[in-house]
Amino acid sequence: MNNNPSPSKAQTLASRRQFLSGNLSIAYKNPLKLVRGEMQYLYDDEGRQFLDAYNNVAHVGHCHPRVVKAAQDQMAVLNTNTRYLSDQIINYAERLTATLPGSLNVCFFVNSGSEANELALRLARTHTGSRDLVVLDHAYHGNTTTMIDISPYKHDGPGGSGPPAWVHKVPLPDLYRGLYRAEDEQASEKYVSHVSEVVERIGRGNRDNLCGFIAESLPSVGGQIELPESYLGAVYREIRAAGGVCIADEVQTGYGRIGKHFWGFESYGVTPDIVVLGKPIGNGHPIGAVVTTREIASSFENGMEFFSTFGGNNVSCAIGVEVLNLVLEEELESHAMAVGDLMLAGLRELMSRHEIMGDVRGSGMFLGVELVKNRDTREPATAKADAVVNGMRDSGILLGTDGPFHNVLKIRPPMPFNRTDADRLVSTLDEILCAFSVSL
Ligand code: PMP
Repeated sequence: MNNNPSPSKAQTLASRRQFLSGNLSIAYKNPLKLVRGEMQYLYDDEGRQFLDAYNNVAHVGHCHPRVVKAAQDQMAVLNTNTRYLSDQIINYAERLTATLPGSLNVCFFVNSGSEANELALRLARTHTGSRDLVVLDHAYHGNTTTMIDISPYKHDGPGGSGPPAWVHKVPLPDLYRGLYRAEDEQASEKYVSHVSEVVERIGRGNRDNLCGFIAESLPSVGGQIELPESYLGAVYREIRAAGGVCIADEVQTGYGRIGKHFWGFESYGVTPDIVVLGKPIGNGHPIGAVVTTREIASSFENGMEFFSTFGGNNVSCAIGVEVLNLVLEEELESHAMAVGDLMLAGLRELMSRHEIMGDVRGSGMFLGVELVKNRDTREPATAKADAVVNGMRDSGILLGTDGPFHNVLKIRPPMPFNRTDADRLVSTLDEILCAFSVSL
């Protein structure tokens, strides 16, 4: 079988079961064997084109020729590590920090979002001399041992064994499905009060305990959630008053995706102490980054060298700079806003006709459609969401689900996704939901 230059899909599936862990999930009932990508499109082994509406890693487009060329050119010349002087890493750090508030001006480069979040936690702990962390329920911050500890989505899910004592989980401020909802004018304050409760319990100003707070600026795995406007500002004040630092996980939400701002945290008028970047900044090449203040970075200069063999290598930096060039030159932030608005309008029109659509939310190219069995009880329509995603796949459009009940359609396409693609997504979703109502 292994000598066959192009095994069939069934053979690939069988070999995968033989050689890889069953713990790796496969998307769709009819799995995709992808062989090529180009901007917002992916192609399978039979040459069929799929419109990619959720792989946000390929931020400027799958296999963008300029990113490919930057990688190829640099790979042919030099690829080594941060122990040698190089202008490339400095240029990248300078370009990256120029997109961030002035206080965030020291960069660390690693290879993944998990690794970046690990480093963020180490920075917070070293700076504060404390250990405990406040996290949002349903959050996901990575696959390493410590990241599973701070990710309720994993440690409270199948196979998980709950959080360790140093992790303090507070309710996800989800105004649609959460503990306090949009109708409640005090919802934001009530969500903040859970953070205050942890701070009081641990001890305000007691630097022996609380090292900080971490949250995605728009929780993605939690279900494509926009936080209440005043929430992060109030939480940051509480955490800082208790001696902690505030970490923004922008792995999913940065680089113009939300349209109205370059970074997710800017939506709430806050400035984190540490920002964590990943996925889109390398457009598929494994780059993670942590950007922090000089003060926090200085605390980390405690004699223990920080070294990541591949983090900040010449090829990664060349790719990182070219991705950033493209985001800015192609004005992808305003493009995301325009196409996102069009898609939101289309989805809201569908919502007026399809009872199953309980909520449509998000901003730019970071959208969620929550499917429910009943709009009053908001019972999650998990099986239907799965059927919709599979139906869309069969119609040539790739979507995924998110949220604690896997009933939220996540729409986070590569940024070249355009108006025609948006119209196609909305009309195909309409057809699939109409077919559902007929079959009921
Ligand atoms: N943070 C967030 C918000 C993520 O969504 C992810 C990955 N899904 C990570 C961190 C971890 O990134 P990686 O898989 O690159 O380690």
